[in-house]
Amino acid sequence: MDILIWITSAIALSWFMAYSRASLSSYTLAFAVLMLLGTFFSVISFVGWVVFALVALPLNVTNFRKQYITSPLLALYKGIMPEMSRTEQEAINAGTTWFDADLFRGAPDWQKLHNFPQPRLSAEEQAFLDGPVEEVCAMIDDWHTTHERADLSPEIWQYLKDNKFFAMIIKKKYGGLEFCAYAQSRVLQKLTGASSVLSSTVGVPNSLGPGELLQHYGTKEQQDYYLPRLVKGEEIPCFALTSPEAGSDAGAIPDFGVVCKGEFEGKEVLGMRLTWDKRYITLAPVATVLGLAFKLQDPDGLLGDEEDLGITCALIPTDLDGVITGRRHFPLNVPFQNGPTQGKDVFVPLDFIIGGPKMAGQGWRMLVECLSVGRAITLPSTSAGGIKSLAMATGAYSRIRRQFKLPIGKMEGIEEALGRIGGNAYLMDAVTTMSTGAIDLGEKPSVISAIAKYHLTEKMRACVTDSMDIHGGKGICMGPNNYLARGYQGAPVAITVEGANILTRNMIIYGQGAIRCHPYVLAELQAAGNKDSKQALDDFDHALFGHVGFAVSNIFRSLWFSLSGSRLLKTPYQDETRRYYQLMTRFSSNLAMLSDVAMLTLGGDLKRRERVSARLGDMLSYLYLASATLKRFNDEGRRAEDLPLMQWAVEDCLYNIQQAMDALLTNFPNKIVGKALRVLVLPLGCWLTKPSDKRDHQVARLLQTPGDARSRLGEGQYLTREDSNLMGQLEQTLDDIVACEPIFEKVCRAVGTKLPFYRLNEVAEQGLACGAINETEAELLRRAEAGRKAAIDVDDFDPADLVADKSLLTGEDKNQPHAA
Ligand SMILES: Cc1cc2nc3c(=O)[nH]c(=O)nc-3n(C[C@H](O)[C@H](O)[C@H](O)COP(=O)(O)OP(=O)(O)OC[C@H]3O[C@@H](n4cnc5c(N)ncnc54)[C@H](O)[C@@H]3O)c2cc1C
Repeated sequence: MDILIWITSAIALSWFMAYSRASLSSYTLAFAVLMLLGTFFSVISFVGWVVFALVALPLNVTNFRKQYITSPLLALYKGIMPEMSRTEQEAINAGTTWFDADLFRGAPDWQKLHNFPQPRLSAEEQAFLDGPVEEVCAMIDDWHTTHERADLSPEIWQYLKDNKFFAMIIKKKYGGLEFCAYAQSRVLQKLTGASSVLSSTVGVPNSLGPGELLQHYGTKEQQDYYLPRLVKGEEIPCFALTSPEAGSDAGAIPDFGVVCKGEFEGKEVLGMRLTWDKRYITLAPVATVLGLAFKLQDPDGLLGDEEDLGITCALIPTDLDGVITGRRHFPLNVPFQNGPTQGKDVFVPLDFIIGGPKMAGQGWRMLVECLSVGRAITLPSTSAGGIKSLAMATGAYSRIRRQFKLPIGKMEGIEEALGRIGGNAYLMDAVTTMSTGAIDLGEKPSVISAIAKYHLTEKMRACVTDSMDIHGGKGICMGPNNYLARGYQGAPVAITVEGANILTRNMIIYGQGAIRCHPYVLAELQAAGNKDSKQALDDFDHALFGHVGFAVSNIFRSLWFSLSGSRLLKTPYQDETRRYYQLMTRFSSNLAMLSDVAMLTLGGDLKRRERVSARLGDMLSYLYLASATLKRFNDEGRRAEDLPLMQWAVEDCLYNIQQAMDALLTNFPNKIVGKALRVLVLPLGCWLTKPSDKRDHQVARLLQTPGDARSRLGEGQYLTREDSNLMGQLEQTLDDIVACEPIFEKVCRAVGTKLPFYRLNEVAEQGLACGAINETEAELLRRAEAGRKAAIDVDDFDPADLVADKSLLTGEDKNQPHAA
């Protein structure tokens, strides 16, 4: 055997073992066999065996390895890794990982993804959507709600209470609806298409708040008292965490309670004296029970040795003396109930703590656990629902509205924006379905919920802007006929709440993902924090060597995928999706490798290098969004007519992964490492492009053409064709316009001139007069004209109607100097 052959075999063996993630012992054994072969063919000498023994023995003799390799490395690790605060620790421990971990680890199993069951609605949940949800959508008048009343009408409030809209998460044994997460999502999607005030008002009591907290942590007495009352709407809940001094850094709330004795309802009891100043609290102005987060102190040791017990959650009736609620904020002209609350020295018994006195100090854990579920439902669903409805409306409007004698939707610039709206609507629905499906499988997907919250609210904001641009002045002039402007105005609300988006992208997604989804990092951190030094060394040794093998494997895999273009990877389907699966596996390996290099080179500093964290988080996020899209396509029967939507969405995700990787490497803190990594993962540079013009064109056509794929895109939204529903009317007009286009052409041919496509009622009379069309066709033209006019019309007002302070009109101006 020639030495060159042996070296080539050694490289190939190393490559194969690394690629297939072989264990250290298998690797050593395989190499020993190769050494034997080399000895047999006189290629390996005694010196070669000495070198092999010097490397292999220390690594494989466990006690030696632990004492001389692992132990010093553990000491070094402890020195560079910053200590985790209790709140960070609790945030990391909250929730579970799911397919996000597979994507993070570099070798996702696509069949596993497709085997997750597709979430389904029960007959009862479907009936609720078709009954009360449909009805309340028909009842609401969004202009009246947002402009004239600045609140839901009393009838709607009562309807919501009577039909248990606030009790979707409450168990049946308390009288609640106990809907699955997927059903809650579908309800919120539909409501938001009719009114975002409606969906916010329903969303909040079903999300993080008293109902959720009581079910998980409440005492039996608290559950038996409050839950049936919440179901019937006898109690309106809110949850107050944010204060003027603590927004994003919610763990730093200055609101406090002091354990003390006091009098409550005529008896002396052990309780706490609470002082708080909260703001931005949804439903606070109308709430009857306040879920309050504060820091509990026990200076007199009445509960034990600990003086600072930490964040605690209690239920405070708002009619208690000293509780101030009622004033309102005015969130971007989307006037759902939201406002401040204060209290000073309000005394309540310790039994008011959710879960009783034993849960004192457990508030942060409770909140982050519940948020890991709720964050995947409310805002992603309202964002997806809003964009589904807008995709339908914008598609219809683009076909109805003509300029330069063409439907505006035929113009390439409009097609580009329509492509984004349609592709993202398909993706957003896929993501809410898959994420709520995970919750219904029993997961508390904290990383996925952050991904869904950030990306769907961002996509919603971008698509609403696109939709506004397509509508031109029709989107801008407000009034009862404007179905867009409130969504546009209110978009930043979703961006800001439940973890403001800049923070969520830069800290939360990857911060939690890296620790929770990585197969070894959490184990290493836990080992380093273990006070039992023997156990710490054992655990660290196991995690560290697993980690090294994992990292080496990902380097080899990344290099191999770059060299082979990942074209040799097996995929579950051999159709148009084949390349997508291959590229996603490749990017997943790249993510795993880049993560390890970032952690190794930056150590604890990675926490402060937010933009490194954000870009790695983007890679993970887009892998998840693309996976959800592929799953949806598969679950819905891989239909050819849905291909443009699926392809647009996946291609956009792949492009964004590449861009995130490119930006990461360009800005990598260590320039030499950044350049070396580029050779490994992007050796040919950035070659993926945004979805093509052809793809935009296909999606734009689909949005403007009635058909199965279009209907599936809007499925579940409030599109009923009734007078009070602008979206339903647009659907009807789209059908009418499409149906009357050939009739219109017939009349033009008959009269020998190209008529303008308006005053279709007059076209109808001309067609009848020259005998080109019959009465049914004429009627269709008349109906299309009425719908067309309604679709392009905007509201105008008596000037006095727009003056909010009517005293200015009568000369009783309260602000004379200002007015002058
Ligand atoms: C309409 C509305 C309804 C709400 N409802 C409730 C409710 O019912 N209950 C409740 O308790 N709270 C509620 N909130 C509060 C909401 O959760 C907070 O507004 C949010 O947490 C952000 O706090 P802040 O507005 O003070 O922004 P700040 O914390 O001041 O943040 C300002 C900016 O800095 C960014 N930022 C902060 N820290 C970092 C970081 N480390 N890295 C990068 N960027 C960072 C943020 O992303 C944001 O862009 C509501 C808020 C609004 C506006």
